[in-house]
Amino acid sequence: MDKNTKILIPEIPGEWTQRQRNGSLNVWNGADHHRFHRTTTDLPEVSLRPPENGLYAERIDGAWYWVSGCAKCNGTGEKYSYSVCDKHNVCRLCSTHRSKLTETPWGHPDGFTCKPCQDAEDAVAKSEALTKVAETDYDEWDYRSQDECKCPHCATVIHIEAEDYGDKKMTCDTCGGEFALVTEYTIQFTTTVIGERLTA
Ligand SMILES: [Zn+2]
Ligand SMILES: [Zn+2]
Ligand SMILES: [Zn+2]
Repeated sequence: MDKNTKILIPEIPGEWTQRQRNGSLNVWNGADHHRFHRTTTDLPEVSLRPPENGLYAERIDGAWYWVSGCAKCNGTGEKYSYSVCDKHNVCRLCSTHRSKLTETPWGHPDGFTCKPCQDAEDAVAKSEALTKVAETDYDEWDYRSQDECKCPHCATVIHIEAEDYGDKKMTCDTCGGEFALVTEYTIQFTTTVIGERLTA
């Protein structure tokens, strides 16, 4: 797609200014939480899909045009772009088109990763972690009372949110190994004087 694409949208009056995007759908005068900010409420709601994937509606010099929103065509480097042209709607690693996928892909800042590519990447990460941890002899004390939750199979550090603290069975995302997590608490003591502090 040409990043300079600019196709007039004759259906939409140039004086309309309120447009929302809902996936590839462009909605003018749509009802939403912005409604009460509007001064005119008698405009009809109109929804249009672009003539081609990767385009979205933009108001330029008082008229509405379909313009390119594809981060790759435009070279903007925008992450998690949700306006992608057909040419660039492909796996970031093997370039398989989204329409050819048989399994749900994984989202990625630069588009998506197809399931087979993600599985291959995961296998490499697992093998690297297990190879690295094998460089030193296993000592269970290396996994006791640590500052971080560390998988005892592959030593990958797993971030635990405070609300997930507790004792539980876990499965490592990197190596698939199972382990038991115990959240250890450190006991500390605080003292404050009752009454007057005694002195010599
Ligand atoms: Zn593109
Ligand atoms: Zn792929
Ligand atoms: Zn692991």
